Amino acid sequence: MLPLQIHLTLPPWIDEVADIGRRYASDDERVGLAIELSRQNVERGGGGPFGAAVFDAVSGRLVAAGVNRVVSQNCSVAHAEMMAIMIAQQRLSRSRMNEDDGHYVLATSSQPCCQCYGAMVWAGIDELLIGARADDVEELTEFDEGPLPADWIGELERRNIAVRRDILRDQARTVLAAYGTTGITY
Ligand SMILES: [Zn+2]
Repeated sequence: MLPLQIHLTLPPWIDEVADIGRRYASDDERVGLAIELSRQNVERGGGGPFGAAVFDAVSGRLVAAGVNRVVSQNCSVAHAEMMAIMIAQQRLSRSRMNEDDGHYVLATSSQPCCQCYGAMVWAGIDELLIGARADDVEELTEFDEGPLPADWIGELERRNIAVRRDILRDQARTVLAAYGTTGITY
């Protein structure tokens, strides 16, 4: 019989880093968590140097967190943004998160690659907060971010997804640079 389900997991230390009871009010706090998740993922050998989190924009409540799990889960889809989005959707029991008229924020340590960029459009997020740029990722690591529309920010904004980037960019770059010197490839 062919498999009928998939099973993806996050590492248990996520709970030590992401505080479910905390109110993450500012862009810096939200991207700061994503960067800390990326840093811990490298330090603990969990995967690539990427972290992401979904927040309720109004309350600042953390809905879901994610880190890169591509190698450990044998799944090219398991980028930090995808993990956070998929877990948030399961938690909210909705495929389009903001269908309840709520507002949801995705914070990510680095600019989404082409796969995650595509996922943004259907996930029901209202704001995308980004630490490092794709140029930083490609400068400091071997990762390929893939093709994006020339006006990728405009395409999201036309779909009512606000984009703010360069949030704690230097901190995000520091994690990417540290990963780049490990010699590990995920
Ligand atoms: Zn991605």
